Amino acid sequence: MIEIVGLKKVFENGFEALKSVDFTIEKGDLVCLLGPSGCGKSTILNMIAGLLTPTEGDIRFDGKSVVKTEPKDRNIGFVFQNYALYPHMTVEENVMFPLTVGDKKMKKAEAKPIAEKYMKLTNIEELKDKKPGTLSGGQQQRVAITRALVQNPEVLLLDEPLSNLDARLRLKIREEIRRLVKEVGITTIFVTHDQEEALSISDKIILLNEGVVQQDDDPQNLYLEPSNLFVAKFIGNPIINILPVEIKAGQMLHPEFSIPLERFSDERFKKGYQDGQYYIGIRPEDVIPADAEPDFTANIKSVELIGRERILNFDVNEIHSKSLVPIEVAIEEGNTQGFRFNLNKAFIFEKEGARIY
Ligand code: ATP
Repeated sequence: MIEIVGLKKVFENGFEALKSVDFTIEKGDLVCLLGPSGCGKSTILNMIAGLLTPTEGDIRFDGKSVVKTEPKDRNIGFVFQNYALYPHMTVEENVMFPLTVGDKKMKKAEAKPIAEKYMKLTNIEELKDKKPGTLSGGQQQRVAITRALVQNPEVLLLDEPLSNLDARLRLKIREEIRRLVKEVGITTIFVTHDQEEALSISDKIILLNEGVVQQDDDPQNLYLEPSNLFVAKFIGNPIINILPVEIKAGQMLHPEFSIPLERFSDERFKKGYQDGQYYIGIRPEDVIPADAEPDFTANIKSVELIGRERILNFDVNEIHSKSLVPIEVAIEEGNTQGFRFNLNKAFIFEKEGARIY
C-alpha cells in the first residue's frame, strides 16, 4: 500500500506546486493521477520516485516512510513520456539492461531468461532483435514498459505514457496496459490529463487542480457524483452544461426557465441552502427533447453525429449548451425545439463551486 500524507512542494523560486495532498493506493490497484497541465501530477510522481524531495509531508510504502530512501532503493519502475530507449541496443538488450547494471548486477546469461519471460508477457518476443528506431510508437512503448517490469518493481509509475501515440493506438495500448499490469499484479500509478483515458483504465482516479486534490474516487463516481464544479466540468464528454440560476422563494429562476424546487428530490440536497445565486449543472444526456411541457425552447444551431448519438448545439441565454440524443432522433439545424431537464441527474453548485445537490 502507498500512503501520501500532507504532501507539499514549494519550488526554489517560491512556487507552491502542491498545497497539501493526501491519498492512499491499495496494493495491485491501477490509479490515475488526472488533472489539467500544471496541476502537479508529475511533481507527485517524481516525489514518489525520489527524484524530488517533498517540502512537507510523507510518502509511505507498506507503512514505512521512504522520503529518505534513495531512488534506486525504492523498488520502482518508471516509464517516462519519451520512453528513452537506448537506440544502439536491440529490444532484448534494452530490456536486459537494467538487470546488468548497478548493485545487483547479473551476468548476461542470467538476465536473458528473465528478459525472455517478460518479453513473452508483453508480446514483444518477435521484436527482440530489432533496434528501437525501426519500431512503431506503440511497440516502443511496450518495450519501455517491459524494461521497467524486468526489475520486478513493487510499483510501476507511468508518466503520460500514451501521449506520443495516435488516437487509435492510444485506445489499444491503454487496454493492453491495464491487462498487463493486472496480469503482473503490480501497483501502478498512471499520469494523464485525458479524462477519458483515466475513466477507461483506472480502479481509482485522483483528480487534481492547482496542487489540490479535487476528488479521489471510483471512475464512475467522478461522473455521477462530482464533488464540485471543477470535477463536473473536467469529467465527461461532451462537457456538462452549466447555467447560472437564482434560487428565490422556492423557485429556481433563469431568464429562460423557472422550475419549482419541489421538482428536485429532497434526499439529494446535501445540506440546506439559502436564496441566492447558484449554478445548475446538467449533462447533455439529461437535457431531453420534449414537445410537451418543455422547461425551455431553443433554436438548434448545429447537429453533430458522433457514432450512435447526436449532439444538438444551441444557446440558452447566450450560453452554449448541448443535448445528447440517440441517432434516431430527427431534429435538424434551424429547428425550434423544446427541452426538459432530467432533474434527478442535475447538480446545483454554489458560486464558489461547492456542490449542494
Ligand atoms: P503536465 O500535464 O503539463 O505535465 P503536471 O500536472 O504534471 O503538468 P507538474 O509538472 O507537476 O504539472 O508541475 C506543477 C507546477 O509546478 C507547474 O505550474 C510547473 O510550472 C511548476 N514547476 C514544475 N517544476 C518546477 C521547478 N523546478 N521550479 C518551479 N516551478 C516548477
